Amino acid sequence: KPDLIIKIARKTGLGIPEQKVLALDDVSLDVYEGEVLGIVGESGCGKSTLGKIVSGLLSPDKGVIRYRGMGINEANSFVTRIACLGIQMIFQNPYSSLNPRMKIRDIIGEAAIVHGFTDKNKVDDYVDSLMIRCGLAPEYKNYYPHQFSGGQCQRIAIARALAVMPDVLICDEVVSALDVSVQAQILNLLTSLREESRLTSVFISHDLRVVEHMSNRIVTMYMGRIVEIAETGDLLKLPAHPYTCKLFEDAPSLNNRNVEFKSIEREIPSAFNPPSGCHFHLRCPKKMDICTQAVPKMISIEPGHKVRCHLFDLPS
Ligand code: SF4
Ligand code: MG
Repeated sequence: KPDLIIKIARKTGLGIPEQKVLALDDVSLDVYEGEVLGIVGESGCGKSTLGKIVSGLLSPDKGVIRYRGMGINEANSFVTRIACLGIQMIFQNPYSSLNPRMKIRDIIGEAAIVHGFTDKNKVDDYVDSLMIRCGLAPEYKNYYPHQFSGGQCQRIAIARALAVMPDVLICDEVVSALDVSVQAQILNLLTSLREESRLTSVFISHDLRVVEHMSNRIVTMYMGRIVEIAETGDLLKLPAHPYTCKLFEDAPSLNNRNVEFKSIEREIPSAFNPPSGCHFHLRCPKKMDICTQAVPKMISIEPGHKVRCHLFDLPS
């Protein structure tokens, strides 16, 4: 079995007090070395918040996040620094994540110099090789972000992330803002980089088909909670949670991918006032009396397949 690289445990949660929202609620999750873990769910379900607490951009109110056994939200700046370099995040909008006043060379090279992966004399070669690995021509390294297309900017963001030699890459909706034709190129780049560098990835997307294509395992989230985890093949064959089933039913086919989950998105209940018990009960075709009263627990239904639904914790 591959090594555990990230552990989220002890009912990890995060509330956003200004919005009176529990963005993450009772999350536990293990990420194994070398895997691509997909996270799906509608917008606002907590996917990005989960990505940010793993990469150290947000701290949970509750629970622990461990990176290679080290608690990254505990008061140890050395450990946090190592984890922050080891876990890099790439975002949806490449333009807003790149400093418009910096040349590509500095965008990619700066953190690598600061953290000692290269030095001022060697940074040009260092940047060139990263640009080549990410499918960019090094001749353009003195250009600025606005001189590149969205897909090229996403390649720059990936090169910047790789510059500090991470072993975990968190990709948050990294192709959502791109044209469909460019999406495939970026996904292929991520796949080949992962294979050559033995990267572990957490792949966050509302687009089930993209997640399915990229991931070994898939996590479904709904209103801040993980509701199902399974290996991709098992989840496709036998999705157990009624919400996962609904996501699959409503997922547009591959060649019609830009039609998003509009039909269900309209029905999401307010996160300010989530439904009691199972948050999905207002939309669930299988709702029972207990569903409005008790929060279901995560239950193993098969090796590696867990689901949070009362249908599976009733005495049979
Ligand atoms: Fe539906 Fe009840 Fe399961 Fe929630 S716990 S998904 S409401 S059956
Ligand atoms: Mg998001």
